[in-house]
Amino acid sequence: MSEGSNRDIKEAGRSRVAVLSSHIVSMASEKDAALAAAAAPVPSDSPTIFDKIINKEIPSNVVYEDDKVLAFRDINPQAPTHIVIIPKVKDGLSGLSKSEERHCEILGRLMYTAKLVAKQEGLDDGFRIVINDGPNGCQSVYHIHVHLLGGRQMNWPPG
Ligand code: AMP
Repeated sequence: MSEGSNRDIKEAGRSRVAVLSSHIVSMASEKDAALAAAAAPVPSDSPTIFDKIINKEIPSNVVYEDDKVLAFRDINPQAPTHIVIIPKVKDGLSGLSKSEERHCEILGRLMYTAKLVAKQEGLDDGFRIVINDGPNGCQSVYHIHVHLLGGRQMNWPPG
């Protein structure tokens, strides 16, 4: 099999797992979705469901957008306000653990966008940001993203 078709099959597999993960997440736990996603042996630049959201191939509830980042409401909210903030260009950042020094600017941009969106959403009493990484971190979509959670009292330690 050619390298190209092998890659296509892997990408299709990743895409299917990502779609499946997003659909089953309301039935199964976040942990199950994360383990299902981690089971797909694909490269860090493979497309995910977030690429479809960026390209407007599937609908999402966008709350903020600029030339670098996109923020939209999580399909399976874990708090009254739950927003996912992503870079429009992944550039190898499938997760925080894959970051390199050249990513510092976009990482800072994601943080600052969380602050902007928190203000826009009226989270004046506080909020939480979360970055899940890898199977142990319950990451289910391998395109780096910041979760912005608010609108209720958070607990500590987190689960
Ligand atoms: P993580 O588990 O940290 O990788 O976070 C991925 C998040 O993406 C989960 O909270 C999912 O609910 C969310 N998600 C997956 N698919 C969609 C979608 N189509 N629209 C909005 N959020 C999604």
